[in-house]
Amino acid sequence: MESLHKKACEWRKNGTFHHALMLTGEEGVGQDVLARALADLLMCEVKAAPCGQCHSCQLMAAGSHPDYLFVDGSEGTIKVDVIRQLIQRVSKKAQVGKTKVLLFKDAHAMNINAANAVLKALEEPPENTFFILTTSNSFGMLPTIQSRCQKMVLDSPTKEEVIAWLEREGHTEVSDLFWLAQQPFHLLALKESGYDKLYRALPEKVCSLLLGEDSVTNIVKGVDQSNIHALCDGYAALIHQVIQYSATGHLPEELTNVSNLMLTKRSIYHLMDRYKGMIDLKQRLKRSNLNPVMQLTHELNQW
Ligand SMILES: [Zn+2]
Repeated sequence: MESLHKKACEWRKNGTFHHALMLTGEEGVGQDVLARALADLLMCEVKAAPCGQCHSCQLMAAGSHPDYLFVDGSEGTIKVDVIRQLIQRVSKKAQVGKTKVLLFKDAHAMNINAANAVLKALEEPPENTFFILTTSNSFGMLPTIQSRCQKMVLDSPTKEEVIAWLEREGHTEVSDLFWLAQQPFHLLALKESGYDKLYRALPEKVCSLLLGEDSVTNIVKGVDQSNIHALCDGYAALIHQVIQYSATGHLPEELTNVSNLMLTKRSIYHLMDRYKGMIDLKQRLKRSNLNPVMQLTHELNQW
């Protein structure tokens, strides 16, 4: 990531910064952090950017720069009305410095109309305007948008590198959640979501379910609209790891007990069905207002 940032500093210095940049990599590998750093770099008004001192840098730090526009696709579909409004704003002159930046986080969340509106803007970019798009799913992006953007690909670090990074940053407490997420910023997001305790409790809950020591009714206690998606992710990741283990022999140690139990008590085909069941459940819950407790109960009854 540092080398990519350095490269971008060079582009800015030489005036060769591409007006459309796409940052791709696995979820949580750092594309959003880098994208924001590049926005800071572009917005700074002095040559040795980012200086952290000029008016623009101060406005960026305060989150109130009028020429920096941010769209968050992680919160749901990005629709065309939003895009039209933003493009209208950047087609006017910058209010503070010269530059305007439009940053799309999780740009794959654009629907087709929104994507076409962005494509049009990329083809005829407003003056002094930079588009930065981040995604963990570049297959979900229109090929025509991809071909208009300069790409920056962030490599996935090894497990050892992530552990070293977590240690340096003082976040070692999340390293036991590797079975759920492997990328550094994804791990931090799990912690910030406040669901890390819930995830940690899952392997033991599944064990007691399979051993008949606990009932599904008990296990789904406390499930509601707010945490159901996190739970579905957790259950799905857990089964995924167990299935993967049966094929590769690699398993995070946190899952040793639950994995042995699952593979003794259930066939691999059954586990595959339950993995699919959990993914389907998550999709169904996204689309409609189903009762999360009833739905999860129904699914866990089949484990
Ligand atoms: Zn500055």
